[in-house]
Amino acid sequence: MVTTRFAPSPTGHLHIGGLRTALFNYLYARSCGGRFHLRIEDTDLDRNVKEATEAILKAFKWVGLEVDGEILYQSKRLDIYKRYIQQLLDEGKAYHCYMSKDELETLRETQRAQGLTPRYDRRYRDFKGTPPSGVAPVVRIKAPLSGEVRFKDGVKGEVCVQAEELDDFVIARSNGVPTYNFVVTIDDALMEISDVIRGDDHLSNTPKQILLYQALGFKIPNFYHVPMILNESGHKLSKRDGAMGVMDYKALGYLKEALLNFLVRLGWSHKDQEIFNLQEMKKFFNPKDLNSAPSCFSPHKLEWLNSHYLKESPADSLKELLVDFELPSGFNTLSPAQQDTLLEALKSRVATLKEMASEVSRVLNAPASYALDKLKNKAQALEVLKTLIACLSEKDFSSVDSLDVALHALMAKMGLKAGALMLPLRIALLGEAGGIGVKETLFTLGYQTSLERLRAFLAL
Ligand code: GLU
Repeated sequence: MVTTRFAPSPTGHLHIGGLRTALFNYLYARSCGGRFHLRIEDTDLDRNVKEATEAILKAFKWVGLEVDGEILYQSKRLDIYKRYIQQLLDEGKAYHCYMSKDELETLRETQRAQGLTPRYDRRYRDFKGTPPSGVAPVVRIKAPLSGEVRFKDGVKGEVCVQAEELDDFVIARSNGVPTYNFVVTIDDALMEISDVIRGDDHLSNTPKQILLYQALGFKIPNFYHVPMILNESGHKLSKRDGAMGVMDYKALGYLKEALLNFLVRLGWSHKDQEIFNLQEMKKFFNPKDLNSAPSCFSPHKLEWLNSHYLKESPADSLKELLVDFELPSGFNTLSPAQQDTLLEALKSRVATLKEMASEVSRVLNAPASYALDKLKNKAQALEVLKTLIACLSEKDFSSVDSLDVALHALMAKMGLKAGALMLPLRIALLGEAGGIGVKETLFTLGYQTSLERLRAFLAL
């Protein structure tokens, strides 16, 4: 069974690169009826694990990634790791090394001075003597002295490292705490992870982990090392480019559908399709289609996708989503039909929910100023608006269609082109020449408010 995992080190929040890794693993498991696990890599005990885990779960919940089974915490598994360390010691596949930090540093300096790559000289590998007293030893793995470690990465292709380059690396520190590569290997093996999709910053760890799989007799999973996300100028993504926490995107008014769609396309493709709903992602995702070139974070593309999903959202969902944003109090006093009309009119004009909320305010708050310079014929505009006030009745406001009929009747009566009516009307109602449709604005504001705004404008 395909079993994948997301294994974050708890760092406070889940950033979008992390979410992309999680998403790829999640989708692969879901695409073939497999399992997706979450493992918190918290052996670095001083960090605030609880909060960080909650932040990850909160982000998962928002975007809808469900985890199978219990969440695993490495900090609770130290006994398990120690057992396997003991096993390797007992089998002679690992050994205690009593070299002090200072000795190791002196050795490295000498090697550097000789133009050699600094590395541990394996002096305790076959040590049979009496260990120096007062030194708490580290445990090192006996790496093969020759040959190579080879694996086929699903993204990078064939990877080959000379065994001698791997050194007899430390698997347990002198305080007994196992090292990163060791715990990852034990956990992935015991969790029966079949496929590891992770950032290519971990590529250099993989040969070491493979040596451990081999030493422990575990089955080696498939690896996929995904290139980083770069900004548009080809550099590492910084906060300013958008390397923010996942929940920051929610607060900015991005829809989870847009964010997931955006992330899945950062490094993965399926034919030339750009728009994927979650169902389609689960159906089509295959790590074989991961790209080996770094992907580029384009804020415009995220906005474009968000606009797309906003347009697709019915007014009812928009209302629910807008609960997290500040709307003017007047919004709640509108009738459901007025609310729907306003949101339907706005949804194709904005890129985020935040923008939508501020557009709602712009419509519902009376204009503070008027773009009078846009009115070419002011005298005619005043005339038209006066006639409009006299002609419009409360009944015309019963629907957008009835307003349409009333406005057309007025244009016919006065022999006006559409612009000669709509432009002054729009400026009187909203203060500006642009914005949502005039009929929709009138309907949203209702008879009383519309007339108040027209009178206020004429009184100027
Ligand atoms: N804990 C590692 C990280 O957050 C990931 C380890 C892995 O995926 O193997 O970068």
